[in-house]
Amino acid sequence: MTTEATATKTTGLRFDFNKAVEDARRDFPEETKNVTFIDLDAPTAAASMSAFFDSLTPAQQEVVESNRRYDVDFMTPEQAPSVWFAGDGRSLFTAYGSRTTLAENEKIFYPEENMDKQNYFTFQHELGHIVVKDGNRPNNRSEHGSDTFALLRGFKSGFFNKLDALKISLGRDTLAWYNADVTHISSMSLDALVINPKQIDFISLTPQETAKIAATHADTFSLNADMGSYLRLQRALDVPFYSAADARIDRLNNLGGIAMSADKDSHAFYFAARVLKTAFEQKQQGNPALENVEFSGEGWQQVWDAIEKKTKGRDLGATKAAQNPDIAPAEKQGFFSKLRTRITPLKI
Ligand SMILES: [Zn+2]
Repeated sequence: MTTEATATKTTGLRFDFNKAVEDARRDFPEETKNVTFIDLDAPTAAASMSAFFDSLTPAQQEVVESNRRYDVDFMTPEQAPSVWFAGDGRSLFTAYGSRTTLAENEKIFYPEENMDKQNYFTFQHELGHIVVKDGNRPNNRSEHGSDTFALLRGFKSGFFNKLDALKISLGRDTLAWYNADVTHISSMSLDALVINPKQIDFISLTPQETAKIAATHADTFSLNADMGSYLRLQRALDVPFYSAADARIDRLNNLGGIAMSADKDSHAFYFAARVLKTAFEQKQQGNPALENVEFSGEGWQQVWDAIEKKTKGRDLGATKAAQNPDIAPAEKQGFFSKLRTRITPLKI
């Protein structure tokens, strides 16, 4: 089946870079007035990037040049960052408009090659860095804000349902134990969206309300809200590197230790338990990334028992809430809202 057919079957929606820019400028006129949007698929992309560079002040150009010294040339389409803040309100925003192939390292995290969803998500995530309050900082909080923002935009536009939220979470969680990427862990915010304990009507949110909810989720659920957990996870994932496979096993083992010893209401416990639960499921589904990992034996049994005990009555990973994957307008939520009240929301 071609990518095109898959995309059409899943949502029927196609990603259109120019339309996305138009919507962003309409919904956030103030925040985007100094933003240069460039479609990396456009034949003029390289020329547009040079023009952007030429329009910068010498001080701003110096920042670009300093990155060139580290062999990262921000001003070529191949190496351009997705969103880049030049200072004084000037930002460069780049994304693909119609890229139809995934890079090899992206396939692990988005195994279903739905490029429309992928491109839509990337665009909205980077827009989140511009429009969510304090979203342009290199920390976990800003990634929570951007991912929450992207999902909310997708819920409203019909690009995403709750299962897409779980897919993004799976990708982020996997990056953490696979590549020790702590900054992009955002599953706790996305689970809270899926569980939606306040029963927010996502469809009727205004763009500004969307950015506000994203900021609130980031403040509440990011690791910056629980620095003890942040440091603990960083230590658990930053393992001595003998081989990639060994490092991944070490990281999963360390997360097992956190699942056993961390307080059940801490961010570190939630993340460790969630990652191990999904990794276990992935292993059962034959994910080759977990080929050398064994989740059996006495040590692991203690981990599973601890997770079971500490998550009793909680919807770890929002899988119960996602059993009804559709995002429905408020008036149609009667049956499922009754069902939802029997599920204890995230305890953080
Ligand atoms: Zn980001």
